Amino acid sequence: MLNMDSFNFNGKKALVRVDLNVPQDANGNVTDDSRAMAILRTVKKITSDGGSAILMSHLGRPKGKVNPAMSLKPIAAYLEGLLGVPVQFATDCVGPDAKAKAAALKPGQVLVLENLRFHPEEEAGDEAFSKTLSELGDVYVNDAFGTAHRAHASTTVVAKFFPTAKLFGYLMQAEIDSVGKVLGHPARPMTAIVGGSKVSSKIEVLENLIGTCDELIIGGGMANTFIKAQGGQTGASLVEEDLLETARTIIKKAADKGVKLHIPTDAVVADAFAETANTDQCAGDAVPDGWMALDIGPKSIEAFRTAVLRSKTLLWNGPMGVFEMKPFQQGTIAIATAVAEATSKGAFSLVGGGDSVAAVNQFGLADKISYVSTGGGAMLEYLEGKVLPGIAAVQNS
Ligand code: AMP
Repeated sequence: MLNMDSFNFNGKKALVRVDLNVPQDANGNVTDDSRAMAILRTVKKITSDGGSAILMSHLGRPKGKVNPAMSLKPIAAYLEGLLGVPVQFATDCVGPDAKAKAAALKPGQVLVLENLRFHPEEEAGDEAFSKTLSELGDVYVNDAFGTAHRAHASTTVVAKFFPTAKLFGYLMQAEIDSVGKVLGHPARPMTAIVGGSKVSSKIEVLENLIGTCDELIIGGGMANTFIKAQGGQTGASLVEEDLLETARTIIKKAADKGVKLHIPTDAVVADAFAETANTDQCAGDAVPDGWMALDIGPKSIEAFRTAVLRSKTLLWNGPMGVFEMKPFQQGTIAIATAVAEATSKGAFSLVGGGDSVAAVNQFGLADKISYVSTGGGAMLEYLEGKVLPGIAAVQNS
């Protein structure tokens, strides 16, 4: 397989799928440029080699129709500021303007194409549309991890038109390498921490992780389903009644595989789902009627922290409690801090696939984690053990 470091882009036109789907305010101003920042290394490598970069991306959900509010033009201008070189813009991702501007690109130049999703063919993975896109460049680079779980034209289908000239960009490679470190051959002990609201969205993740990890910590709203499945009293906590049997199966699978399972033994409870609710603490399996567990309690924090600190590999997906509300954020802060501490002692840590990414950012700990994933849904599917079409398309020759 080709890779960014050894590939020489000199004289080549690189067609690069990036993720410029940046959040904007009502006036179109970029409110968080981390996705744009994340592609700079790839773009700069191409241009500094003497190649040119044709960047293609989606923005928002225009559903196959032109929507000026979702134009990538202002994002191209923003990118120009970040790159410090002129960035051209094509008013459509296919058609005469894109073709002419791509053909005229000189070494070192950058072109951004208009929103791919203005065409329904993008999300449909249309072959002819993919072929037309492919004709713009000589080499295909996929650096859009956030859409790697979608078999769209620009993320997957287009790769087949570059049988010997396709590679991952630096961001994509970093995501793949990080997951490899966690699920491939992790340094042991390997501990997975899974939280968030519902078991239903994490069943496959849990099942896949049980095959890899030594210890599994379950927190957040989903822990209540596990507690109830074992006969505990969960009061008015979030419980998925239809998944009690699934929770029991997961508990059994963990036991069969020798995975040490940690479920909260105590909780911070509230009499309403609100920042201003009355709060108390109680055993995790003795939540009074009318009260709900909205965070893990101090004993759970201590137990989880101990498990995290003895780990050499850590994967964290999903918060321990309702961290958006101050009274229920201590569990998530404590786990984030413990993961950062373990990392400083040499553990490899990956945070990804959910709100735990928002949590480490909110608590200012992102730079103390080995790798914070940029792809929510894509990372979740990757952790489920699925083959992501965007990755497979570049790997398959
Ligand atoms: P997810 O997207 O599945 O990772 O879930 C994240 C959401 O789970 C966050 O918005 C949290 O507020 C929520 N959450 C975490 N713990 C609880 C809990 N104990 N009860 C209800 N919601 C929770």
